Amino acid sequence: MSISYGPASEANISELHPELQRLLRQCALELPEYFDISVTCGWRGEADQNEAFRTGASKLRWPDSAHNKKPARAYDYACYGRDQAGKPVKIYDIEDILMRQGAMRLIAHHIGVRLRPLIDWDKPHVELAKDVP
Ligand SMILES: [Zn+2]
Repeated sequence: MSISYGPASEANISELHPELQRLLRQCALELPEYFDISVTCGWRGEADQNEAFRTGASKLRWPDSAHNKKPARAYDYACYGRDQAGKPVKIYDIEDILMRQGAMRLIAHHIGVRLRPLIDWDKPHVELAKDVP
């Protein structure tokens, strides 16, 4: 089994740098269903970026975040598991977030997408390496 992205994820994916889109397409093919994710943020505009800074969700003000570039050079994700009936449920455990980071980074390595190392305070975030054009 692989994963598929819903319409909200697809809209966010469409805002991403082609290399991140390539990574997420490969992730959809390779990630098992129990590593399901949704892409919750691609590009972030000025008001949302400054709100993220205000609430502590970001340490950067507009336009300094990788989410503020066009196309966006980072995405955020949420993790999904399944309830007893097989319905997707959002999960928040740090272990689930980090397992998916590991899986996505391994896939990125295999297909040659270069990523910035994990940001300790922002674990559900994946960002292109700075020197990727
Ligand atoms: Zn982010």
